[in-house]
Amino acid sequence: MSLQGRTAAVTGGSRGIGRAICLELARQGANVAFSYAGNTAAAEQTLEQLQQLGVQARAVQGDVSDGQAAAALLAAAGELGGVHILVNNAGITRDGLAMTLKEEDFDGVLDTNLKGAFLCTKAAIRPMMKARYGRIVNLTSVVALRGNPGQVNYCASKAGLIGMTKSLAKELGSRGITVNAVAPGFIETDMTAALPEGARQAMLGTIPLGRPGQPEEVARAVAFLASDEAGYITGQVLCVDGGMAM
Ligand code: NAP
Repeated sequence: MSLQGRTAAVTGGSRGIGRAICLELARQGANVAFSYAGNTAAAEQTLEQLQQLGVQARAVQGDVSDGQAAAALLAAAGELGGVHILVNNAGITRDGLAMTLKEEDFDGVLDTNLKGAFLCTKAAIRPMMKARYGRIVNLTSVVALRGNPGQVNYCASKAGLIGMTKSLAKELGSRGITVNAVAPGFIETDMTAALPEGARQAMLGTIPLGRPGQPEEVARAVAFLASDEAGYITGQVLCVDGGMAM
Protein backbone atom coordinates (compact mmCIF):
# COMPACT_ATOMS: atom_id res chain seq x y z
CA MET A 1 0.00 0.00 0.00
CA SER A 2 1.49 3.34 -1.04
CA LEU A 3 0.18 6.89 -0.93
CA GLN A 4 3.22 8.26 -2.74
CA GLY A 5 2.26 11.31 -4.81
CA ARG A 6 -0.98 11.87 -2.87
CA THR A 7 -1.87 14.80 -0.65
CA ALA A 8 -4.23 14.54 2.31
CA ALA A 9 -6.24 17.09 4.28
CA VAL A 10 -7.01 15.95 7.82
CA THR A 11 -9.17 17.89 10.28
CA GLY A 12 -8.16 17.83 13.95
CA GLY A 13 -4.65 16.53 13.35
CA SER A 14 -2.96 18.02 16.40
CA ARG A 15 -3.81 15.25 18.86
CA GLY A 16 -5.23 11.77 19.36
CA ILE A 17 -6.66 9.81 16.44
CA GLY A 18 -6.16 12.74 14.03
CA ARG A 19 -2.44 12.93 14.76
CA ALA A 20 -2.10 9.15 14.31
CA ILE A 21 -3.93 9.43 10.96
CA CYS A 22 -1.61 12.23 9.76
CA LEU A 23 1.46 10.17 10.68
CA GLU A 24 0.16 6.92 9.13
CA LEU A 25 -0.71 8.68 5.85
CA ALA A 26 2.75 10.27 5.85
CA ARG A 27 4.41 6.89 6.53
CA GLN A 28 2.71 5.66 3.34
CA GLY A 29 4.20 8.64 1.49
CA ALA A 30 1.40 11.24 1.43
CA ASN A 31 1.94 14.96 1.97
CA VAL A 32 -0.35 16.16 4.76
CA ALA A 33 -2.16 19.41 5.59
CA PHE A 34 -4.05 19.29 8.87
CA SER A 35 -6.22 21.63 10.90
CA TYR A 36 -6.57 22.16 14.63
CA ALA A 37 -8.76 24.27 16.88
CA GLY A 38 -6.27 26.08 19.13
CA ASN A 39 -3.67 23.76 20.67
CA THR A 40 -0.65 25.20 18.88
CA ALA A 41 1.93 23.28 20.95
CA ALA A 42 0.32 19.95 20.00
CA ALA A 43 0.00 21.02 16.35
CA GLU A 44 3.69 21.91 16.24
CA GLN A 45 4.55 18.44 17.56
CA THR A 46 2.50 16.77 14.81
CA LEU A 47 4.10 19.04 12.22
CA GLU A 48 7.60 18.17 13.43
CA GLN A 49 6.84 14.43 13.38
CA LEU A 50 5.47 14.71 9.84
CA GLN A 51 8.57 16.56 8.66
CA GLN A 52 10.76 13.87 10.25
CA LEU A 53 8.95 11.35 8.02
CA GLY A 54 10.23 13.31 5.01
CA VAL A 55 6.90 14.52 3.60
CA GLN A 56 5.66 18.06 3.03
CA ALA A 57 3.30 19.19 5.78
CA ARG A 58 1.24 22.21 6.85
CA ALA A 59 -0.73 23.02 9.99
CA VAL A 60 -3.74 25.32 9.65
CA GLN A 61 -5.37 26.76 12.76
CA GLY A 62 -9.12 27.30 12.46
CA ASP A 63 -12.56 26.19 13.54
CA VAL A 64 -13.74 23.44 11.22
CA SER A 65 -17.34 24.70 11.43
CA ASP A 66 -16.28 27.96 9.77
CA GLY A 67 -16.44 27.78 5.98
CA GLN A 68 -13.38 30.01 5.53
CA ALA A 69 -11.26 27.78 7.78
CA ALA A 70 -12.42 24.72 5.85
CA ALA A 71 -11.46 26.42 2.59
CA ALA A 72 -8.04 27.40 4.06
CA LEU A 73 -7.29 23.76 4.97
CA LEU A 74 -8.17 22.52 1.50
CA ALA A 75 -6.17 25.35 -0.08
CA ALA A 76 -3.13 24.31 1.99
CA ALA A 77 -3.52 20.74 0.74
CA GLY A 78 -3.81 22.06 -2.80
CA GLU A 79 -0.51 23.91 -2.41
CA LEU A 80 1.16 20.67 -1.28
CA GLY A 81 0.14 18.89 -4.48
CA GLY A 82 -3.64 18.53 -4.74
CA VAL A 83 -6.65 17.33 -2.82
CA HIS A 84 -6.64 13.57 -3.13
CA ILE A 85 -7.64 12.50 0.37
CA LEU A 86 -9.91 14.20 2.93
CA VAL A 87 -10.26 12.82 6.44
CA ASN A 88 -13.01 14.49 8.49
CA ASN A 89 -11.73 13.64 11.95
CA ALA A 90 -12.19 16.75 14.14
CA GLY A 91 -14.75 16.08 16.83
CA ILE A 92 -15.84 17.16 20.29
CA THR A 93 -18.15 15.96 23.06
CA ARG A 94 -20.33 18.07 25.37
CA ASP A 95 -22.17 15.40 27.30
CA GLY A 96 -25.34 15.76 29.35
CA LEU A 97 -28.74 14.15 29.80
CA ALA A 98 -31.27 15.35 27.22
CA MET A 99 -33.57 16.83 29.85
CA THR A 100 -30.94 19.34 30.96
CA LEU A 101 -28.66 19.57 27.91
CA LYS A 102 -28.13 23.18 26.90
CA GLU A 103 -29.20 24.16 23.39
CA GLU A 104 -25.74 25.67 22.80
CA ASP A 105 -24.13 22.32 23.65
CA PHE A 106 -26.37 20.57 21.16
CA ASP A 107 -25.56 23.12 18.47
CA GLY A 108 -21.82 23.19 19.29
CA VAL A 109 -21.39 19.45 18.84
CA LEU A 110 -23.47 19.34 15.65
CA ASP A 111 -21.58 22.35 14.23
CA THR A 112 -18.14 20.84 14.80
CA ASN A 113 -18.80 17.16 14.15
CA LEU A 114 -21.34 17.28 11.32
CA LYS A 115 -21.40 20.73 9.73
CA GLY A 116 -17.59 20.89 9.88
CA ALA A 117 -17.35 17.66 7.90
CA PHE A 118 -19.86 18.97 5.37
CA LEU A 119 -17.99 22.25 4.85
CA CYS A 120 -14.63 20.53 4.33
CA THR A 121 -16.21 17.99 1.99
CA LYS A 122 -17.89 20.78 0.01
CA ALA A 123 -14.51 22.50 -0.41
CA ALA A 124 -12.90 19.21 -1.51
CA ILE A 125 -15.51 18.09 -4.05
CA ARG A 126 -14.60 20.47 -6.88
CA PRO A 127 -10.87 19.63 -7.06
CA MET A 128 -11.61 15.92 -6.58
CA MET A 129 -14.24 15.95 -9.36
CA LYS A 130 -11.83 17.76 -11.66
CA ALA A 131 -9.19 15.09 -11.00
CA ARG A 132 -11.84 12.33 -11.22
CA TYR A 133 -10.23 10.90 -8.11
CA GLY A 134 -10.85 11.24 -4.39
CA ARG A 135 -10.93 9.44 -1.07
CA ILE A 136 -13.10 10.85 1.70
CA VAL A 137 -13.11 9.19 5.12
CA ASN A 138 -15.39 10.39 7.92
CA LEU A 139 -14.77 9.57 11.59
CA THR A 140 -18.07 8.47 13.09
CA SER A 141 -18.41 6.32 16.25
CA VAL A 142 -19.91 3.04 17.42
CA VAL A 143 -22.33 5.10 19.53
CA ALA A 144 -23.93 6.29 16.29
CA LEU A 145 -25.03 2.67 15.80
CA ARG A 146 -25.86 1.82 19.43
CA GLY A 147 -26.91 5.11 21.06
CA ASN A 148 -25.46 6.25 24.40
CA PRO A 149 -27.22 7.90 27.34
CA GLY A 150 -25.85 11.38 27.98
CA GLN A 151 -24.70 11.80 24.40
CA VAL A 152 -27.79 12.69 22.34
CA ASN A 153 -25.92 15.53 20.66
CA TYR A 154 -22.78 13.49 19.93
CA CYS A 155 -24.73 10.39 18.76
CA ALA A 156 -26.94 12.54 16.51
CA SER A 157 -23.86 14.16 14.95
CA LYS A 158 -22.14 10.82 14.37
CA ALA A 159 -25.29 9.15 12.99
CA GLY A 160 -25.68 12.18 10.71
CA LEU A 161 -22.17 11.54 9.41
CA ILE A 162 -23.16 8.02 8.40
CA GLY A 163 -26.15 9.35 6.40
CA MET A 164 -23.88 11.95 4.84
CA THR A 165 -21.27 9.31 3.96
CA LYS A 166 -23.80 7.13 2.11
CA SER A 167 -25.43 10.07 0.29
CA LEU A 168 -22.05 11.40 -0.84
CA ALA A 169 -20.97 7.92 -1.95
CA LYS A 170 -24.00 7.86 -4.26
CA GLU A 171 -23.49 11.45 -5.47
CA LEU A 172 -19.78 11.15 -6.20
CA GLY A 173 -19.19 7.53 -7.16
CA SER A 174 -19.38 8.14 -10.90
CA ARG A 175 -16.46 10.62 -10.58
CA GLY A 176 -14.04 8.12 -9.06
CA ILE A 177 -14.52 9.47 -5.55
CA THR A 178 -15.13 7.01 -2.70
CA VAL A 179 -16.68 8.06 0.61
CA ASN A 180 -16.50 5.82 3.67
CA ALA A 181 -16.77 6.09 7.44
CA VAL A 182 -14.67 4.61 10.20
CA ALA A 183 -16.42 3.98 13.52
CA PRO A 184 -13.97 3.74 16.41
CA GLY A 185 -15.05 2.13 19.66
CA PHE A 186 -13.22 3.02 22.88
CA ILE A 187 -9.85 4.49 21.89
CA GLU A 188 -7.33 5.89 24.37
CA THR A 189 -7.06 9.64 23.67
CA ASP A 190 -7.64 12.90 25.57
CA MET A 191 -11.35 12.54 24.71
CA THR A 192 -11.73 9.28 26.64
CA ALA A 193 -9.18 10.15 29.36
CA ALA A 194 -11.85 12.41 30.85
CA LEU A 195 -14.19 9.43 31.52
CA PRO A 196 -14.72 8.46 35.17
CA GLU A 197 -13.13 5.10 36.13
CA GLY A 198 -16.58 3.45 36.61
CA ALA A 199 -17.70 4.37 33.09
CA ARG A 200 -14.34 3.20 31.70
CA GLN A 201 -14.65 -0.22 33.34
CA ALA A 202 -18.29 -0.57 32.21
CA MET A 203 -17.25 0.20 28.63
CA LEU A 204 -14.31 -2.22 28.73
CA GLY A 205 -16.74 -4.94 29.81
CA THR A 206 -18.61 -4.59 26.49
CA ILE A 207 -15.51 -5.11 24.29
CA PRO A 208 -14.99 -8.73 23.14
CA LEU A 209 -11.24 -8.09 22.71
CA GLY A 210 -11.18 -6.91 26.35
CA ARG A 211 -9.02 -3.83 25.89
CA PRO A 212 -9.24 -0.26 24.65
CA GLY A 213 -7.98 0.54 21.16
CA GLN A 214 -5.03 2.74 20.26
CA PRO A 215 -5.18 5.71 17.84
CA GLU A 216 -2.73 3.92 15.50
CA GLU A 217 -5.20 1.03 15.11
CA VAL A 218 -7.84 3.46 13.81
CA ALA A 219 -5.29 5.24 11.64
CA ARG A 220 -4.36 2.05 9.77
CA ALA A 221 -8.02 1.47 8.81
CA VAL A 222 -8.32 5.07 7.61
CA ALA A 223 -5.11 4.76 5.56
CA PHE A 224 -6.46 1.60 3.89
CA LEU A 225 -9.73 3.34 2.92
CA ALA A 226 -7.64 6.27 1.62
CA SER A 227 -5.54 4.02 -0.60
CA ASP A 228 -5.93 2.83 -4.19
CA GLU A 229 -6.34 -0.69 -2.81
CA ALA A 230 -9.76 0.32 -1.40
CA GLY A 231 -10.92 1.64 -4.78
CA TYR A 232 -14.01 -0.59 -4.97
CA ILE A 233 -15.24 0.18 -1.43
CA THR A 234 -17.66 3.07 -0.97
CA GLY A 235 -20.54 4.03 1.32
CA GLN A 236 -19.33 1.68 4.07
CA VAL A 237 -18.94 2.00 7.83
CA LEU A 238 -15.90 0.14 9.13
CA CYS A 239 -15.99 -0.44 12.90
CA VAL A 240 -12.58 -0.39 14.60
CA ASP A 241 -13.84 -1.30 18.02
CA GLY A 242 -12.58 -4.66 19.25
CA GLY A 243 -16.02 -6.09 18.43
CA MET A 244 -17.94 -3.60 20.63
CA ALA A 245 -20.75 -2.78 18.18
CA MET A 246 -21.60 -6.37 17.16
P1 NAP B 1 -9.25 14.44 20.75
O1 NAP B 1 -8.09 13.70 21.33
O2 NAP B 1 -10.13 15.22 21.68
O3 NAP B 1 -8.70 15.41 19.59
C1 NAP B 1 -9.61 16.22 18.92
C2 NAP B 1 -8.93 16.90 17.74
O4 NAP B 1 -9.91 17.68 17.03
C3 NAP B 1 -7.85 17.88 18.17
O5 NAP B 1 -6.86 17.88 17.17
C4 NAP B 1 -8.59 19.22 18.19
O6 NAP B 1 -7.73 20.36 18.01
C5 NAP B 1 -9.49 19.05 16.98
N1 NAP B 1 -10.69 19.90 17.02
C6 NAP B 1 -11.66 19.94 17.96
N2 NAP B 1 -12.58 20.86 17.64
C7 NAP B 1 -12.18 21.43 16.47
C8 NAP B 1 -12.69 22.45 15.64
N3 NAP B 1 -13.83 23.09 15.94
N4 NAP B 1 -11.99 22.79 14.52
C9 NAP B 1 -10.85 22.16 14.21
N5 NAP B 1 -10.31 21.15 14.94
C10 NAP B 1 -10.97 20.81 16.08
O7 NAP B 1 -10.24 13.46 19.98
P2 NAP B 1 -10.01 11.94 19.48
O8 NAP B 1 -10.35 11.03 20.58
O9 NAP B 1 -8.70 11.83 18.80
O10 NAP B 1 -11.18 11.81 18.40
C11 NAP B 1 -10.98 12.01 17.01
C12 NAP B 1 -12.26 11.69 16.27
O11 NAP B 1 -12.62 10.32 16.51
C13 NAP B 1 -13.46 12.52 16.74
O12 NAP B 1 -14.31 12.80 15.64
C14 NAP B 1 -14.17 11.61 17.70
O13 NAP B 1 -15.53 11.91 17.82
C15 NAP B 1 -13.94 10.26 17.04
N6 NAP B 1 -14.04 9.13 17.96
C16 NAP B 1 -13.19 9.01 19.03
C17 NAP B 1 -13.33 7.91 19.88
C18 NAP B 1 -12.43 7.68 21.05
O14 NAP B 1 -12.64 6.70 21.78
N7 NAP B 1 -11.42 8.50 21.30
C19 NAP B 1 -14.34 6.97 19.64
C20 NAP B 1 -15.18 7.14 18.56
C21 NAP B 1 -15.02 8.22 17.72
P3 NAP B 1 -6.95 21.05 19.28
O15 NAP B 1 -5.83 20.11 19.63
O16 NAP B 1 -6.47 22.34 18.74
O17 NAP B 1 -7.96 21.17 20.38
